[in-house]
Amino acid sequence: MKIADIEVAWIQLPLAEGRGLSGGPITHSTDVICRVTTSDGVEGIGEARGAPLPMISSAIVEVLRPLLLGQDAAATQHLWTTMAQALLHDDGTPRNAAWTRNAALGAIAAVDLALWEAKAKAAGLSVCRLLGGQPRPMRAYCSAGFLTDGQPPEEMAQETLEEMHERGFRATKIRVGRGGPDVSAARVRAMRGALGPDGQIMVDANQAWSTEEAIEHARAMEPYDLTWLEEPLPSPGRPHRGTKETRDWDAETGRLGTSTSIPIASGENHVTLAETRDLVDKGHVRYVQFDCIKNGGLTEFAKVAAYCEAKGVALAPHHVPHFHVQIAAAYPQTEWIEVFDNAKQHVAWLDLFPDYPQTRNGHIEVLDRPGWGFTLNEPFLRERGTLVHWRR
Ligand SMILES: [Mg+2]
Repeated sequence: MKIADIEVAWIQLPLAEGRGLSGGPITHSTDVICRVTTSDGVEGIGEARGAPLPMISSAIVEVLRPLLLGQDAAATQHLWTTMAQALLHDDGTPRNAAWTRNAALGAIAAVDLALWEAKAKAAGLSVCRLLGGQPRPMRAYCSAGFLTDGQPPEEMAQETLEEMHERGFRATKIRVGRGGPDVSAARVRAMRGALGPDGQIMVDANQAWSTEEAIEHARAMEPYDLTWLEEPLPSPGRPHRGTKETRDWDAETGRLGTSTSIPIASGENHVTLAETRDLVDKGHVRYVQFDCIKNGGLTEFAKVAAYCEAKGVALAPHHVPHFHVQIAAAYPQTEWIEVFDNAKQHVAWLDLFPDYPQTRNGHIEVLDRPGWGFTLNEPFLRERGTLVHWRR
């Protein structure tokens, strides 16, 4: 099963409504789509996101494609190492100074995921079954409650509740991180009031705070029985927002964790196995939110999952449920899938993948068909996307 071709396209579509996060709104739905075709005619799809799309695409087409053509498509670990060595120095910096590390990791992720799908399809198995899992509906939460200037918290809570009811969610994640602790408390109080005592609420600060601020916000939100507080502090190497201050944020996450009764979740911006190890070891997080689309694909995810299991830490992967539900269902310590796929939030996904996994009764299905279980709407990609290297 040799690699016969690697194709790349990207798509960027405006959202009907911006998704307000603490650092500003997300205004577009953006994805790099990678397709691997083998000498047997098997096709696998991978996806990347989170860095300039042309940069990820160039890394695949200019560096990875010439390197991988003709190689054994099933040798995913070997190829992962080959790709990492081609794009990154040993210290993790990109070999091409014009590219970012995240773009390199996204490129590796897209190709790695496509290779895994080709391997699963060749075996006639879903990715979940290939990994030893048993497809079953996975508990999911409704990712919502975005920050909209001037919107009263009660209105945010009501909108979120209506979105939850559409698909039977009993858990939701809402955004915080703008305004003082009183604003954070008002948002979770409104959500708890709308949802009642039984539903579950997570909050996501998207790296908004310093440790001292995070402790204050956490204490203000403690009375409202939160399932987790997500990404309160910057990711490794980043400064505290609006300053040049950097610290060992994983150690600071650990300090925060001992200062509040709210469990801490983090990891969507911990981009390697080593960074995630440090988060688990120093940060005392309850939930790790590794993102296989941003960060090195399934090959890296599997190692993160094994480390988390050994350490007794739960998995709650970040975003892209159509990939993560297939993968995470194979790991018993997965507690939550983030469902983030309504038409307002991700216009590209529902059009690109028309047989998208369905969410009912607060659980998202694991498609029990070979590979990821969904197909690519190629005419849509051709019409709306930018074909960087795609067969005519
Ligand atoms: Mg988050």
